[in-house]
Amino acid sequence: MRRGLILGALVCTCASAQVSPARLVTAYPAFLARLDGHTLLWRNGPATPLDAGHVFTSPADRLDHPDLRELLRQPYPACMPLNAPAYANDPGRARPAAFFGRMYGSSPATVRANLEPVNWFGQTLMFSRVNGAANALRAVEHDLAAQPALRKYLTPSAGTYLWRVVAGSTRQSAHSWGIAIDINTRYSAYWEWSGYREFQRGIPYSNRLPQAVVWAFERHGFVWGGRWYHSDTMHFEYRPELSGC
Ligand SMILES: [Zn+2]
Repeated sequence: MRRGLILGALVCTCASAQVSPARLVTAYPAFLARLDGHTLLWRNGPATPLDAGHVFTSPADRLDHPDLRELLRQPYPACMPLNAPAYANDPGRARPAAFFGRMYGSSPATVRANLEPVNWFGQTLMFSRVNGAANALRAVEHDLAAQPALRKYLTPSAGTYLWRVVAGSTRQSAHSWGIAIDINTRYSAYWEWSGYREFQRGIPYSNRLPQAVVWAFERHGFVWGGRWYHSDTMHFEYRPELSGC
């Protein structure tokens, strides 16, 4: 009985959105018109239901087949103190590829047509102009340039646009859409480097980034991989539906 209840909890579709779906419309007004009940209406083209009706069979399945409700399930703690994330708390890591592809491009060619150069402390990075992402990255650079002691964490950037899936998965990386940046890997930690499996308990957390770096990104609508249980502290991605202070 008890075992059945536990299994039931694992496979239920009870992912009620914890972040208001209205934040999607606010974050992406060029594309999204409004919410109609549990359906997202675009300015052009077919509507998207928040709940795609997929029955999740595992925590990994939530990341492999996320819908918009899954995207909104875990609140992102923007501009809060930096703490080790709770088990399986990965706000922003679930990315419905069709949703982001529709805005930023669903092929390398269509994404590249939206990229523009951004100066990153003397390095030229390509970032999407869509939804103001490139301007947001410029604003982060402007804010952080005022604190030269932080420069070593930020540069050289390990990259922005790269059409690829996340290592070891079929999930489209946010780098594919030109909305993610990896900063200097020298001060970084990535959960897989510890040798743990995904969703294994006890994945160690370590972070060397100062709070001022993280908050500068978050002020301008980026989420940080260091706030994920599956921690990726070099990684920031433009997700104004979740971040911003
Ligand atoms: Zn990255």
